[in-house]
Amino acid sequence: MKIIERSVEISHSLFQQTYEERDGYRTYHFAFGWYRNTLLAIGKNSPNSPNSRALKFAKKFNSTQIIKYPFLHAEVDLISRLWGRFHINNRLKVVIVRLNKFKQLQNSKPCSNCSRVLNTLGVNRLWWSTKKGKIKGSNSC
Ligand SMILES: [Zn+2]
Repeated sequence: MKIIERSVEISHSLFQQTYEERDGYRTYHFAFGWYRNTLLAIGKNSPNSPNSRALKFAKKFNSTQIIKYPFLHAEVDLISRLWGRFHINNRLKVVIVRLNKFKQLQNSKPCSNCSRVLNTLGVNRLWWSTKKGKIKGSNSC
């Protein structure tokens, strides 16, 4: 499917810049928000420092674990970028890609906190990369 291939391609193209900005990350996590075939926004993880947007969304969605450790996950970064700009519902398609520092696909299935945020908003068309270098989906497109 086109949006998945494009998400993986864009992840690879963003990798170098992100790698240089954020030397030392073990994984590079990107979340792509699509409406039909239009890319609306891209979220990135930010695991090295606590983040005020992570905290804001954790409070909004009552994610106690994130309130304690407010590091920004790519999925929540994506939602925060769409927030107030687009109506977030089940028409939004989210593709999550995680690369290791060798640019290989890794498991990017959303954690329970991110899953709850996405579920609460009705976002259930999700695809994520797996360690075997494939993309899995919760739904057909
Ligand atoms: Zn998460």
